[in-house]
Amino acid sequence: MMAHVVVLGAGLGGTIQAYELRDSLEEGDKITLISDKPYFQFTPSNPWAGVGWRKKGDVTIELAPVMKDRGIEFICDAAVKLEPAENRIKLKSGAEVTYDYLVIATGPELAFDEIDGFGPEANTSSVCQIEHAELSGRKWEAFCADPGPIVVGAVQGASCFGPAYEYAMTMDTDLRRRKIRHKVPMIFVTPEPYIGHLGLGGVGDTKGMLESIMRDRDIRWVTNAKVEMFEADKLHFVEVNEDGSEKKKHEEPFKYAMFLPAFRGIPALQGIEGLVNPRGFVLTDEFQRNPKYPNIFGIGVCIAIAPPVATPVPTGVPKTGFMIESMVTATAHNIPRLIAGKEPDSRPTWNAFCLADFGDRGAAFLAMPQNPPRNLNWASEGRWVHWAKLAFEWYFMRKVRKGVSEPFYEKFVMRMMKINKIQDGKTGS
Ligand SMILES: Cc1cc2nc3c(=O)[nH]c(=O)nc-3n(C[C@H](O)[C@H](O)[C@H](O)COP(=O)(O)OP(=O)(O)OC[C@H]3O[C@@H](n4cnc5c(N)ncnc54)[C@H](O)[C@@H]3O)c2cc1C
Repeated sequence: MMAHVVVLGAGLGGTIQAYELRDSLEEGDKITLISDKPYFQFTPSNPWAGVGWRKKGDVTIELAPVMKDRGIEFICDAAVKLEPAENRIKLKSGAEVTYDYLVIATGPELAFDEIDGFGPEANTSSVCQIEHAELSGRKWEAFCADPGPIVVGAVQGASCFGPAYEYAMTMDTDLRRRKIRHKVPMIFVTPEPYIGHLGLGGVGDTKGMLESIMRDRDIRWVTNAKVEMFEADKLHFVEVNEDGSEKKKHEEPFKYAMFLPAFRGIPALQGIEGLVNPRGFVLTDEFQRNPKYPNIFGIGVCIAIAPPVATPVPTGVPKTGFMIESMVTATAHNIPRLIAGKEPDSRPTWNAFCLADFGDRGAAFLAMPQNPPRNLNWASEGRWVHWAKLAFEWYFMRKVRKGVSEPFYEKFVMRMMKINKIQDGKTGS
């Protein structure tokens, strides 16, 4: 019997999921990709767009033609309500789509509303989405014409720390190139208990490494920070002790601010008992499958992962690109098995591999497995990371444009580092 598989969300995870399923499913099985935006965006390049080094057109790809080429139906519409008991998704246009199997890949909703004055519609810039990052790039030009203090970092409950460090260092690099760095005091404010924690309890010596880089670049920092509010030109935050009690209240004036928000699940998923946790993140088992609705899978930033250790100010676990690809590959193997009446057998590795670019050099880390104690901790920095990140962008954009599910770059880097994306079943390579 032929099956209809729907992938909801066409970001870094969903787009590649549709391609990998096209390879793993039978020809007669139908795949539909649904996304609220007509284009794919390569989110990791957004910090570059935030200083004007990329334009929207450089890092987006129209989805309709590339999906048509691969025989995947593309619907540009937003999910407003999932009805898992009926295998149905209600869309903003009023249309409804039913499915046999569903892969949820809707990424995060950005929780700017949890803090007063926060977000691109209030007093801070954002690089989380290309639309925000382009706006930030324009604000950045105005700022450079009349510079002043910068506050940058992440707020309580954030999980994605890499881009906060990236953007801080990229701004530093850009200001030095413009020869106005001396006019810009910079402070990095983070809920992490120490610099380089990254929501992962650190990876190798990311603490020493990132502290040293920040010292070199004259960026001051405050850790264990909980933001209270952003005024138009002033950040209010509290620094806490190990037991969570207040250590010191801070006020930092700024002319430019960018903070990573906390994430939560999208509204269409919120409150569905057994499908999501209280923040709306999709519950998945070791096979990326939802325990209550076994025909639903979740991949990427939208899934629930508990932090390995509690921190004095709450932090979450980052879900990085390579980890997401391991979820995609496992799901692409498991769905055909379910269709064939078998049990799933592929588990993602969830190894965290990340390249953080600083505009001229960068830092890379690999945590295997994600949570300590680990078999492998590796962190390094240098000019090569900048080149590797450029290559990552080039190959990933090419992969989406051509509809290929596993090209050279992953194979090359991952073989070099002897990493597998899935633990059991076929490797797909
Ligand atoms: C600024 C930034 C930089 C990052 N840099 C890196 C990096 O360098 N390396 C790395 O490994 N990781 C990086 N990450 C982490 C991670 O890889 C990215 O967040 C990645 O984009 C997550 O992929 P995803 O598919 O889970 O979600 P997304 O890429 O966010 O995709 C979600 C998709 O769902 C769609 N969608 C949302 N709501 C709906 C709806 N209601 N109906 C239909 N569609 C919907 C969205 O439009 C989008 O297409 C970065 C994250 C950020 C925020």
